[in-house]
Amino acid sequence: MIKTKPTGPIPSGYEAIDGELAIGGLTASALVAQHGSPLFVYSTRMLDSRMAQLRAAMPDGLDLHFAMKANPFQPVLHHMVGLADGIDIASGGELRMALEAGAEPAHISFAGPGKRDDELEEAIKAGVSINIESPSECDRALKIGVALGKTPRLAIRVNPNFDLKGSGMKMGGGAKPFGMDIELVAPTVKRILDAGADWRGFHIFAGSQALSADAIIETQSQTLALAADLAKEIGRAPEHVNLGGGFGIPYFPGDEQLDIIKVGNALSDQLRQLPDILSSTQFAIELGRYLVGEAGVYLTRIVDRKESQGHIFLVTDGGLHHQLAASGNFGTVVRRNYPAAIANRFEEEPAETVSIVGCLCTPLDRLSDNAAMPQASVGDIVAIFCAGAYGASASPANFLGQGPASEILVQ
Ligand SMILES: *Cc1c(COP(=O)(O)O)cnc(C)c1O
Repeated sequence: MIKTKPTGPIPSGYEAIDGELAIGGLTASALVAQHGSPLFVYSTRMLDSRMAQLRAAMPDGLDLHFAMKANPFQPVLHHMVGLADGIDIASGGELRMALEAGAEPAHISFAGPGKRDDELEEAIKAGVSINIESPSECDRALKIGVALGKTPRLAIRVNPNFDLKGSGMKMGGGAKPFGMDIELVAPTVKRILDAGADWRGFHIFAGSQALSADAIIETQSQTLALAADLAKEIGRAPEHVNLGGGFGIPYFPGDEQLDIIKVGNALSDQLRQLPDILSSTQFAIELGRYLVGEAGVYLTRIVDRKESQGHIFLVTDGGLHHQLAASGNFGTVVRRNYPAAIANRFEEEPAETVSIVGCLCTPLDRLSDNAAMPQASVGDIVAIFCAGAYGASASPANFLGQGPASEILVQ
């Protein structure tokens, strides 16, 4: 007997037309017939509804930023520029993409360790805000500003002395390449002010992919306290504080939706009780996967069905070169199954236990392991959900000479 492994929860908002998975009113088979396979499909309607729910839940006046590394596909980015209050970038390449997508320089902030001089120069020329990650990066930015005759807009990225509990990827607490340690913050701000540059405030990001509202609430409260302490030490109010994000989405069996109403209510309470020094500060959160992850699905066609020692393998024309995260090779310790379905048999009951694999010649290329699926054959289409973030752009598309998947934004 082959033991069936559960798959993650299919995000709500997906519908069936004629028994098939449909996105934006188009069936999976129609989408693949028109745009080829493998294909990432992103839903405008789901992007819109996610942002609307988030705005309704979060305190009035809180800026909602999109961390574009989650999905830099130009039509998605362009749409997110229209929905979000700011775009957070992490490279010169992302800067150009954000500007091309219509983002206002004043609403772009640039974080990330290892910014090259040419990237700092581009960012200062464009007038975007730079989240400074170390005192030496600060010196380079100030020097480049002088050479350009332009005032750099500089915020300090702080390495917080806490982390986001239960987060999938810790980016604060302890020794980190991200941000600067707390004791370096005040002297660096002083250097910025003395140099006549525009000090924007703080960026404090403590982690990613948390599904616990309590953990996020605790981190936000620690973040506000840290921002207040730093402001007092500096003796000046920060104009802007980016509180980070870390809102997760359910990928795996047993994962539950984050309670954003609870997070929003707690944050509203905290913003009402701010210490005086932060009373005129503008706050933001920055989210990637929460805004776009569930709005994307990866479609890949079955090219072979085979049996080995009683196990059924559905071999697809896609794989980890497009969906590295679903294969369990992008920051996960134990491989678990993403939500998956046979897209053109979306309403059929499970009939067998199968492993869905990619076409790459490596045992790592597994999209779903011993999952219960309706009986599928060659030509059928597999859907892997939660493909709207860290899919196409975070996978090694050139591995084995395969090349990228197509991507499309539908209604
Ligand atoms: C990657 C990143 C994000 C987005 O993370 P998500 O888990 O996709 O929300 C936000 N801020 C910073 C600084 C990041 O590096």
